[in-house]
Amino acid sequence: MRIVGLTGGIGSGKSTVLEVFSSLGVPCYESDIRAKKLMQDDPEFINQIKALFGDDIYKGEKLNRTRLADLVFTDNIKLSELNSLVHPKVKRDFQLFVNQQNAAYVVKESAILFEMNGAKDCDATILVTAPEKLRIERVMKREKTKIEHVKSRISNQWIDEKKIHLADYVINNIDWDKTLKKIEEIHQKLVALNN
Ligand code: ATP
Repeated sequence: MRIVGLTGGIGSGKSTVLEVFSSLGVPCYESDIRAKKLMQDDPEFINQIKALFGDDIYKGEKLNRTRLADLVFTDNIKLSELNSLVHPKVKRDFQLFVNQQNAAYVVKESAILFEMNGAKDCDATILVTAPEKLRIERVMKREKTKIEHVKSRISNQWIDEKKIHLADYVINNIDWDKTLKKIEEIHQKLVALNN
């Protein structure tokens, strides 16, 4: 079974694109959502996070996500330390997920696939792109947040120009109908690789 990595900057539309792959019957794994769940459920992981950020990063059993986000977005070292904890946990969790699937390929969505050198574990990669201005507009519309916060999250990710030549497939997600056609085209190619 092929592992296809799906990535893109914040607001590029990768989660929306992932939903389409899922509707085509492709098993889909959302790394960020799984990571959040593991931070809440995995006792070893919880202890590692407490060791890094202090016991009070959890209020009882509940992770204080706002505080964690504030801490890592103002401290790049803490952000990379957190990423190095998340990485092996998600890797193992993803392997368990893959073992349960029976399909031509699975899609693994990860916002920082290239940044974390995750492409080496994939048989193919898909990058979703959109102009930065549009991405900021989409995120501001999707969630109530400050523009500085969105820009700060963008600054922790690689720019599209750095990722485009690393990806096997690029979806320039501006016009949704074109995006749908492109997804269908990529899906056909990936299925054909198995025949
Ligand atoms: P994040 O990294 O923050 O999770 P993302 O890359 O997963 O972002 P989405 O959540 O899929 O991005 O999309 C951001 C917003 O833009 C959503 O509200 C989505 O509905 C919208 N959107 C995605 N693609 C398009 C498009 N082609 N046209 C208009 N709106 C779109």
